[in-house]
Amino acid sequence: MIRLENINVTFGKGTETEVCALDIPALELFEGSWNNVIGPNGSGKSTLLKVICGQILSLEGKIFITGKNITGSGASKRFDYVQMIEQDPRNNTVASMTIEENLRLYAFRRGSPALSFLKSGSVAEIRKLLARFDMGLEDRLHSQAGLLSGGQRQAVAVAAVLLRNPKILLLDEFTAAIDPKTAPKLLNIVKQLAADFKITVIMVSHDLEQVINSGDRIFILSSGKVAEDIATASVKITKAELVAKYTRVLEEEGVL
Ligand code: ADP
Ligand code: MG
Repeated sequence: MIRLENINVTFGKGTETEVCALDIPALELFEGSWNNVIGPNGSGKSTLLKVICGQILSLEGKIFITGKNITGSGASKRFDYVQMIEQDPRNNTVASMTIEENLRLYAFRRGSPALSFLKSGSVAEIRKLLARFDMGLEDRLHSQAGLLSGGQRQAVAVAAVLLRNPKILLLDEFTAAIDPKTAPKLLNIVKQLAADFKITVIMVSHDLEQVINSGDRIFILSSGKVAEDIATASVKITKAELVAKYTRVLEEEGVL
C-alpha cells in the first residue's frame, strides 16, 4: 500500500555540508502491516517518516499510496490519511488545552472528514476511545494536557490522530520519553488499536525489546540505506540474531 521508488533525499546539495539522508531504490509496505525501523543516529529514520507524511518535498523519486502517485502532495494534503506522532509529547498536544479540546482541535483542523465523529452525542465515542488506553483518561476530559504524565499525553495524541481515521500511522520514537513501565503498555494498546482500525504502521524505535517479535518487519537503516529487511511475520527472529545483525551494521558504519 506504500511504495517508494528511487527515493533520494540529499540535504545541502552542492555545498560542503551535503548529506545523503535517504537512498531507497525500492520499498513496499503492505496494507495493515506493522513495520519497525531501527538504526543509529542520523541513519535516516526520521527522514523516511517525513518523506511519507509529506514534510520533505525536495526529493527525487516517487511515492505511491494504494497505487496512487502522491509524490507532489504536501503534508496538509496527506493529513487525512497519514498521521505522525513525534517523540516529545509536547509536540503532539497543546499543554494549556484540555484533553477534549486537544481532540476537538485535532479533528477540526483543516476541514476535516472526522467532523461527523464529533457531532452531538460523540462525547461518548471519545470516552470509549480514551478508555481503550486504560489510563483513566475518559474521566479526565477537562484536565489540561500539560498536567498529564508523558505516557498519558502520548495516549491523548494517539487518540487524537485516530479521530482522523488514518490509513497510515508513523511513530517516531513515540515512547522514548515515557517511563519504562508505561511505555510497553502504551505500545501494546496502540498495536491493538492499529490492528482493529487496519492501519499500516511504521514505528521508529531505539528499543530492540520493542521491535523483537512484534509486527511484520524490521528494517535496519544505515547511512540512509536499508541495510537489512527482516520479515518477522512468519519466521521469528531471536534477540541474539537481531543484535548480531544490528552490530554488524554498526561495525560497517564505523560506529563500533
Ligand atoms: P535519524 O532519525 O535516523 O537520527 P535523520 O533522518 O534525522 O536521522 O537524519 C539523517 C541525516 O540527515 C543526518 O545526517 C542529519 O544530520 C541529516 N538531516 C536531517 N534533516 C536535515 C535537515 N533539515 N537539513 C540538513 N540535514 C538534515
Ligand atoms: Mg530521528
